[in-house]
Amino acid sequence: MTHEADPISRLSARRGLRLGIMGGAFDPVHIAHLVAAQEALTQFGLDEVVFMPSGQPPHKKRRLASPEFRYRMTVAATASNPRFSVSRLEIDQPGTDYTVDTLEYLKGALQPDAVLFFITGADAVLDILSWKDPQGVLARCTLLAATRPGFDLSRLASVLASLGAGVVGTGPEAKVRVMDVPGLDISSSMIRQRIAAGLPVRYLVPDAVCDLIDSSDEYRPGSGI
Ligand code: NAP
Repeated sequence: MTHEADPISRLSARRGLRLGIMGGAFDPVHIAHLVAAQEALTQFGLDEVVFMPSGQPPHKKRRLASPEFRYRMTVAATASNPRFSVSRLEIDQPGTDYTVDTLEYLKGALQPDAVLFFITGADAVLDILSWKDPQGVLARCTLLAATRPGFDLSRLASVLASLGAGVVGTGPEAKVRVMDVPGLDISSSMIRQRIAAGLPVRYLVPDAVCDLIDSSDEYRPGSGI
């Protein structure tokens, strides 16, 4: 259930919506995430991209920054773009959030003709066989896999081939589309390492995110991250 201020509630009556859902931990959000979302908007003719910070991802072993802090950083990062917004759907949900359940909820909350695009990193898509109901994910959305420079597409193709014929491809019928994103060699782990080493992250993350990080203890050495 989303609050009425949530973008999903605002979009619920919109007909013919082409909606990007930007899934990730955003720990922290950085400029390559924003470039990827902008690429998805233009390459796939989307109306909006809703960032969906994960609450407690099923696959994470390490401790993440708090969901509330990751949400606040994502709101700050996207505030200047009227076609970007942030949903609390996954962070407010008790327990584990699975992408297939999020997509099923969105299908019910939006108009029947809404078309969903789930945007995430190609590295994350490589693990899709370990996700809950990967076929169900692909039945409910087109998956947009953002690639980093030098990414080996053949690995992705072989993982996706095992999900069944007709899934992989470059044409509009393909359920997984690969999206080249300039500058995607910035990563959240690299930013966390730089913070831990006392190195600057300004310009790798939006200024407002940098200010939030500077004024919090979330990524300080000793915080366990
Ligand atoms: P991850 O395993 O931490 O990330 C793998 C790689 O993908 C990292 O290099 C990461 O870079 C990149 N990445 C992640 N999100 C991205 C995005 N939106 N745009 C560009 N690159 C991105 O993955 P995660 O962030 O935890 O999960 C990604 C999404 O998949 C989330 O929405 C998560 O809920 C979903 N997921 C679902 C299941 C399931 O349903 N069982 C299982 C796993 C993941 P950065 O670290 O720089 O972001």
